[in-house]
Amino acid sequence: MKCPFCGSEDIIKGVVWSGGMNCKTVGLSEKNLLGRQTHQVCSDVCRECGTIVRTYLRGYDYLKTQNISWETEKEQNAD
Ligand SMILES: [Zn+2]
Repeated sequence: MKCPFCGSEDIIKGVVWSGGMNCKTVGLSEKNLLGRQTHQVCSDVCRECGTIVRTYLRGYDYLKTQNISWETEKEQNAD
């Protein structure tokens, strides 16, 4: 993988996202009958310039087999 910004191939893969000490998980939101669930995301980061080259859901091989009701901006505004 190449950084689209600086062209470097020095990419750190699978860096996990964090919300800091007071936040347990940062990620994409699923809203279903049981409430809300957060699905963790990871990013690949260019070591040369710090660009986040790719962001993706952690463990997506499993998630894609599930029928997940992703909470979109549209649904959030309807609350
Ligand atoms: Zn770069």
